[in-house]
Amino acid sequence: MTTAAVPLSPFDAARLRRDFPILAEPVHGKPLVYLDNANTTQKPKAVIEATTRYYEKQNSNIHRGTHHLSEVATAVYEGARARIARFIHANSPREVVFTRGTTEAINLVANSYGQLKVKAGDEILITHLEHHSNIVPWQLLCERTGATLKVVPITDAGEVDLAAFEKLLSDKTRLFAVGHISNSLGTVNPVKEMVAKAKAAGAATLIDGAQAVPHQRVDVRELGCDFYAFSGHKMYGPTGIGVLWGREALLETMPPFQGGGDMILSVTFEKTDYNELPFKFEAGTANIAGGAGIAAAVDYLEAAGLDAIAGWESELLAKAEAGLRAIPGLKIIGTAQRKAGLVSFTMEGIHPHDVGTILDRDGLAVRTGHHCAQPVMDRFGVPATVRASFGLYNLPSDVDALVAGVEKVRRMFS
Ligand code: PMP
Repeated sequence: MTTAAVPLSPFDAARLRRDFPILAEPVHGKPLVYLDNANTTQKPKAVIEATTRYYEKQNSNIHRGTHHLSEVATAVYEGARARIARFIHANSPREVVFTRGTTEAINLVANSYGQLKVKAGDEILITHLEHHSNIVPWQLLCERTGATLKVVPITDAGEVDLAAFEKLLSDKTRLFAVGHISNSLGTVNPVKEMVAKAKAAGAATLIDGAQAVPHQRVDVRELGCDFYAFSGHKMYGPTGIGVLWGREALLETMPPFQGGGDMILSVTFEKTDYNELPFKFEAGTANIAGGAGIAAAVDYLEAAGLDAIAGWESELLAKAEAGLRAIPGLKIIGTAQRKAGLVSFTMEGIHPHDVGTILDRDGLAVRTGHHCAQPVMDRFGVPATVRASFGLYNLPSDVDALVAGVEKVRRMFS
């Protein structure tokens, strides 16, 4: 089910684009210019076919049947787990827990690790850049336990204040949770260095990798973290499936997150014995088709080449920022030294939603709003931004269309 990665050189986004049927669908009679990839990516034929093949030829429930199809479906799902393990350089598939997505993965850690380790007086440390999914589960944990949520401030450029981070770390810090790449500003955080500092202070570490996995190579062992979370639908895979990677020794000590079928070895009314890893954390019937799809997405990403994708998207970003900066009254929010292919901006006197609505009429899909990162918006004193985010299939002509569309909005309002 897997292939060695065959990097394309030079990167041929125009060829890859033809693998995505939806990109040929017109919007309001215009060609689609899809720049909402941080929200969700489109799916290549290989992913669509893998899920269709599953339902047409392989569908059955897993782990519990002796019949042929059950064995086939189990092989598809467990094959997907092994594929993910290799992709992120996990030590073993036992460390790969399938979840509904990043949000559920973080909630799993907040509940399970939280129940095991966090008590009144402890601290959970996050940063001001986080997505709500990496804020609210920790708030809930703090409410339950009497622990305190601490937040590392960010600079005017949208970078984590590293001096403040070091000051906030203490022997009370039970867990440090940080986004690898900010979904609202595009900042790439120095997660490896931050994880090392947090570990030295005795804290467990979680990286929210939702925005990193589709855009750059990720090696969980090299990062040194304890947990890494990401979503299938942001990496050209299906919705409803994602991953929590955790260190095996740590996962072994953690209690189950949800109870039900598949996560048990034996049940009596007096006592239940839990299943081994990773099944202890996977109660109920899994998203098996999602497993087939996410494995195909990983094959696709590796064949395109993660380094080549990162290089291509950073060229698109540079072109977009240069074009947008030349538009009077436009302000880019988030000017970190290291940014992924994403640009957030505001326009003087024009509400972001108006910008988004007008661009949409020309077939341009961007996101407008707070991007599930309201504290970031508050930090910059704006209710919302317009966000254009790039994927491997975007072309320089998409950037030209964006800049021309935004310039047209400015002229309409001036
Ligand atoms: N974290 C980040 C940085 C994100 O960008 C997102 C999705 N926008 C999430 C978490 C949540 O992902 P999901 O909705 O797939 O669980």
